Amino acid sequence: MTARAFQIASMIAGTLFGAYASLAIAAEKGVTVSAAAASAEASVVATDMRIGGDDKQTRFVVDLNRKIDLVAFTLADPYRVVVDLPQTTFTLPAKAGEQARGLVKAFRYGLIMQGGSRIVLDTKGPVRLEKAFVLDAAEGQPARLVLDLIATDRTSFMRNIALENRAAHNTSIKPSEAPPKVDGDVRPLIVLDPGHGGIDTGTKGSGGELEKDVVLAFAQTLREKLESGGKYRVAMTRSDDTFIPLAERVRFARSRNAGLFISVHADALPRREGQAEGATVYTLSENASDAEAARLAEAENKADVIAGVDLTTEPDDVANILVDLAQRETKTFSMQFARTLVGELKAAARLHKHPLKSAGFKVLLAPDVPSVLLELGYMSTKDDLKQLTSATWRARTAQALAQAVDSFFTPRVAGAGGGRN
Ligand SMILES: [Zn+2]
Repeated sequence: MTARAFQIASMIAGTLFGAYASLAIAAEKGVTVSAAAASAEASVVATDMRIGGDDKQTRFVVDLNRKIDLVAFTLADPYRVVVDLPQTTFTLPAKAGEQARGLVKAFRYGLIMQGGSRIVLDTKGPVRLEKAFVLDAAEGQPARLVLDLIATDRTSFMRNIALENRAAHNTSIKPSEAPPKVDGDVRPLIVLDPGHGGIDTGTKGSGGELEKDVVLAFAQTLREKLESGGKYRVAMTRSDDTFIPLAERVRFARSRNAGLFISVHADALPRREGQAEGATVYTLSENASDAEAARLAEAENKADVIAGVDLTTEPDDVANILVDLAQRETKTFSMQFARTLVGELKAAARLHKHPLKSAGFKVLLAPDVPSVLLELGYMSTKDDLKQLTSATWRARTAQALAQAVDSFFTPRVAGAGGGRN
């Protein structure tokens, strides 16, 4: 393997997630890893793909403009195959990822971090990654990435993963923003968390608009508003199109002692579920306030599954956090901010008919940082989408949010505001 190849592989595998197949282990398991020429620095383009085979054995092929190095591994619960590549431009046919054939249920692809792309395959059941390699261009054929999957049983699948886990590093992806300089700055820190990113696009509008872009644009406008007042420091979990795992977003806020965490999303309803409109503010609760809140939390919590994060290595301490949270003031503060925010948004934006809800959102799990999740509106509703993509609406709504932040942080004057004294 070339030095460059190792650099890419260790960068992607070592800095991302818990479980991965190191190259050594991949080799031990018979997975082939190609070695590209050290000088091949041209950008990578994936131009086409094919799936062939049946429920016992399936071959997944992606055409590439040149040979590359890859790292491939499997994940459980749900069953997935993950392929990490150098940063790649995908020009695959629209809806390519919705193809189901043989052992492959669906797949997606995209940026996972600067310099690294990823393909995630959902499989129908446990599979063995028999081969993963890249062929040189030859005889009029382009370079090709080839994965051979073979159906297996859960016991052997889990045994393979356990082998892979022996080499696991429990380090995590680096947030796209470096820690802000504090320098004795005592102004409250607001962490803005634009949802999704990179390989995980979030919901989609009818014209191909992506939630990840809409919420990033909004968060950037909000950041400017908050910073221009001079009263707050602002940090963003991502300020570009990269993927950040949910737990990392929480860690980001906690490690910086944030005074407030605002996660920004845009919802969508499947067509058969009819229409809904307007913004909704969510806080954390063990039991969802209604069925729609439960549906949404489940969808938002899927971000890590979509991006191929290994959930089985995450500590299963959600229940403890909830107990812990109940004992702290954080919950009260989160509710207080959520109510203030709904009040301010009323004048500036359209609100959902039940604008204040709660559910078990993973991204709201910081026990010591007041946290809310704001769904700006529905990408699936025409009028909402028009607003979500309008700079005027963005500015007006961000202004309302900044107002709510101000009210939240302004110390109450004793005796004022109808207090108990
Ligand atoms: Zn979302």
